[in-house]
Amino acid sequence: MTRILHRQIHAKLPTADGGHGVYLVDTAGRSYIDASGGAAVSCLGHGHPDVIAALHAQADRLAYAHTSFFTNTPAEALADRLIEGAPAGISHAYFVSGGSEAIEAALKMARQYYVETGQPGRRNIIARRQSYHGNTLGALAAGGNEMRRTQFHPLLIETHHIDPCFAYRFQEPGETDEAYAVRAAQALEDKVLELGPETVMAFVAEPVVGATAGAVPSVADYFQRIRAICDRYGIILILDEVMCGMGRTGTLHASTQDGIAPDLMTIAKGLGGGYQPIGAVLLSQRIFDAFANGTGQFQHGHTYICHPMACAAALAVQEAIARDNLLANVRTMGAYLSRRLGERFGNHSHVGDIRGRGLFMGVELVRDRSTKAPFEPDLNVHARVKREAMARGLLVYPGGGTIDGVRGDHVLIAPPFIIDAVTVDTVVDRLGEAIDAAIAD
Ligand code: PMP
Repeated sequence: MTRILHRQIHAKLPTADGGHGVYLVDTAGRSYIDASGGAAVSCLGHGHPDVIAALHAQADRLAYAHTSFFTNTPAEALADRLIEGAPAGISHAYFVSGGSEAIEAALKMARQYYVETGQPGRRNIIARRQSYHGNTLGALAAGGNEMRRTQFHPLLIETHHIDPCFAYRFQEPGETDEAYAVRAAQALEDKVLELGPETVMAFVAEPVVGATAGAVPSVADYFQRIRAICDRYGIILILDEVMCGMGRTGTLHASTQDGIAPDLMTIAKGLGGGYQPIGAVLLSQRIFDAFANGTGQFQHGHTYICHPMACAAALAVQEAIARDNLLANVRTMGAYLSRRLGERFGNHSHVGDIRGRGLFMGVELVRDRSTKAPFEPDLNVHARVKREAMARGLLVYPGGGTIDGVRGDHVLIAPPFIIDAVTVDTVVDRLGEAIDAAIAD
């Protein structure tokens, strides 16, 4: 009997025991293609020798030193590397232990920026429905996944949610992408004007929505319009690239493909590739200067910020990705995966939408393809697909439930960047069998 409080208390989980490349192995000797990299984490695959060597070397040298006394070499090197590849205006990094911590820190940075610059009335956070920003209270408040928020509502700070840019569910029939981009972005301006621009602190959004919606990119121009609205009203734009960032979509940052740079960006999962828990906030010079010229500190901190082992692992992961030119493979294999999913599911009567960018793809499952009517919630189709896929040696990340009235079942495919075409074929074949079995039940 397990003594761990697992998320799904009654689920009988296999025990993970080993990993190499795109495969995970359990104690019963069963092997799984890790086609979701856990939750879009394992970007480099499992058991990479360079990362293991870097971890050994760092453990031999220094495991931990508190940041109130010291900086450390891997943290400095990782910050240099990230800033070199960062969007225009980004000048500094703040290292934490995961995605939720990164969002919490980003929200506090935004708030402190306005206090330091004499605008203490700015406190309102605007975010989007069908989003996920983490499970700590601030991040949960920002997120727009009602299923996760419901029980905790009385504890959540007030946040204001607008509809996301989600073409499959919200674009009107006959509406052009351009018109939809205008309409979806206008929701932000309307909300800003309703609240009063002088009260608005930050807008938070995932460039490609991950866990709650299943790899949903925006339509062209949406984020440029969002950037312009934030600039018009002096609002900090926080882009949450915890899931879609660090190469997952084929460029280091997903928002590069939207042609914008944020004021604050959160990254995590693919940063350390699962070898250590690590996340970061990348912040702009403007925000750094406000702190530096004001109180001289960011009023925040955790015991494990800038953890040397975590930073050493992330550095090794990022070096391996660059050295092996793996983002090129993300683009090539991403295009191949998208084509193969289209061939297999393009006419499937229960697949409503196939979407995503790079090696970050979502497949939406529906009762009726022509009306987009979802499956009945009690069927838990996404969980069934996960189960059937696991029985066939395939890991895909399920998502579903009713989210602000929009019902959806989807699976997320986010394999390690090292995946090859033969393995992509196997992923698509096994997923096809799993979906058919889950729906036939
Ligand atoms: N933001 C996004 C976009 C995420 O996908 C997640 C995790 N799924 C988080 C934040 C929270 O990250 P963590 O689970 O590492 O706290």
